[in-house]
Amino acid sequence: MAKKVLKFGGTSVGTIERILHVANILKKEFVAGNEIIAVVSAMSGVTNGLIEQSNSISKNFNKRELDVLLTSGEQATSALLAGALIDMGINSKSWLNWQIPILTEGEHSNSRIINMSVTEIDKFLLNKGVAIIPGFQGISKNGEITTIGRGGSDATAVAVAKIFNADSCEIYTDVDGVFSTDPNKIPVAKKINKISYDEMLELSSLGAKVIQSSAVQTAMMYNLPLEIRSTFTERNGTKIFNRENIDYEKSVTGVAYSKDDAKITLIGVLDKPGVAADIFEPISNDQINVDMVIQNISSDHKKTDITFTIKRHDLLKTLEILKHNKRIKYDEINHNDRVSKVSIVGAGMVSTPGVTYKMFRGLAEKNINILAISTSEIKLSVIINEKDTLEAVKKLHTIFKLD
Ligand code: ADP
Ligand code: ASP
Ligand code: MG
Repeated sequence: MAKKVLKFGGTSVGTIERILHVANILKKEFVAGNEIIAVVSAMSGVTNGLIEQSNSISKNFNKRELDVLLTSGEQATSALLAGALIDMGINSKSWLNWQIPILTEGEHSNSRIINMSVTEIDKFLLNKGVAIIPGFQGISKNGEITTIGRGGSDATAVAVAKIFNADSCEIYTDVDGVFSTDPNKIPVAKKINKISYDEMLELSSLGAKVIQSSAVQTAMMYNLPLEIRSTFTERNGTKIFNRENIDYEKSVTGVAYSKDDAKITLIGVLDKPGVAADIFEPISNDQINVDMVIQNISSDHKKTDITFTIKRHDLLKTLEILKHNKRIKYDEINHNDRVSKVSIVGAGMVSTPGVTYKMFRGLAEKNINILAISTSEIKLSVIINEKDTLEAVKKLHTIFKLD
């Protein structure tokens, strides 16, 4: 007997037939003698639909009310799934975030789970029943309903697995596991059987939405093994754990991309100490995350150019901040919001020389211009024009023998 946390994403519970299918998976696990906690997402499209409705009332819809609205998606799935199990003769019960409670801290729409009460649900499990917990949400210490970021049901599942001391945490989704790149965009992508936390963290932060990055971060912090697998096939999924358990045959494990970036260049900035701090301090004070920064070396030691990237939705705000920044002087400001970031990730890169030049050569062969570069021990990212994204991903996938 094991205590298992099973998480089902939006597509997995996207229709009533699929909810019944999920109920059957849970029934099988339960009848086999396991203690089962299911964490569920809203039915696919529901969260987006609710956001659209709020936008049609106001582009600046009240954040507290938005959280109240969005949590209703997961609430509906929880009740439908518990009801389906009860109808099959299996004892089951769903809890709302405040009934458990799932305690969070942080601002509306971007909170973090910090604790959960286990007593009542543990008692229910002991008395033989399948417990259903809504993903993506919680309650603050002031009693306000909160959500924990898009895709947050993954983070709920990992938090539940940790706090309930589960033996395993399985993320059920609409693909067979983690692939070398998005299999829905690049059909030659291959399933990865095992991947380390740090590689998965890079891939998901760099755009592979198969699992939310903060879920991977928590799993890594507590050394909690995860498995990502399909709701619709019986095939083995992808195991995510420590790097020591993995042999690296390939230098690159996967290719990820995101299309929500923007680039800003300040031309003719004074080349003296303190200028970069003066540029970026007010930007960060506004909670805007700067990703890549490139400063050219000035030939005359007087003026230089600084390029940096941010999320596309922060572009207008960042331009405003720069224009109102009295502490800096520059000749010109350029921006481009049609850029994307393509990244290769692999723990094997550390011990393989030549990965960098191969990536650049491959992109050059496709006539793809690199606008900015950033590296870390296990990843290499480039900013390119958005229109070249899929071609770049395909090329890199082939060069690094992932097809
Ligand atoms: P869920 O609703 O189950 O949480 P998501 O839509 O959030 O599912 O994540 C699954 C999707 O992630 C897949 O359908 C796939 O298109 C996408 N994806 C992106 N990159 C990858 C990758 N490297 N491996 C697998 N899936 C990926
Ligand atoms: N329903 C939420 C979303 O669409 C959370 C999730 O599905 O994980 O972002
Ligand atoms: Mg998801």
